[in-house]
Amino acid sequence: MSTIFSKIRDKEIPAEFLYEDEEIFAIKDIMPQANIHILIIPKKDIPTLNDITKSDTQLLGKMMLVASQLAQHFGIQDSGYRLVMNCNGDGGQTVFQLHLHLLGGEPLRGSFGN
Ligand code: 5GP
Repeated sequence: MSTIFSKIRDKEIPAEFLYEDEEIFAIKDIMPQANIHILIIPKKDIPTLNDITKSDTQLLGKMMLVASQLAQHFGIQDSGYRLVMNCNGDGGQTVFQLHLHLLGGEPLRGSFGN
């Protein structure tokens, strides 16, 4: 299925690429929710987290690794950051191509689990 992110992946729509390899790319979010807001996106078509299989385990791990490297690149590794993956309607997902949000560069409102 074609999405905004598959069109960006295929260079049909412009975006500011911050990272790209054969499996993953990372772009600046067009409507940033924090000073730093980056989307880490697998090139493979995976609509939601519900669609991952065991064969995607390494890919998901690599997305986390790339997020960590980008956090270091932007110098927010010590100040801190948040990784978010929304799933379907209640989770707030609006683009149905799996993606990980990297947010930081300022104190983030609303933490979970404490
Ligand atoms: P979701 O709500 O699905 O978790 O996140 C989708 C994200 O994609 C949103 O933060 C939104 O701002 C971003 N987005 C939507 N369309 C575009 C676009 O055309 N270019 C870029 N760079 N980001 C987009």
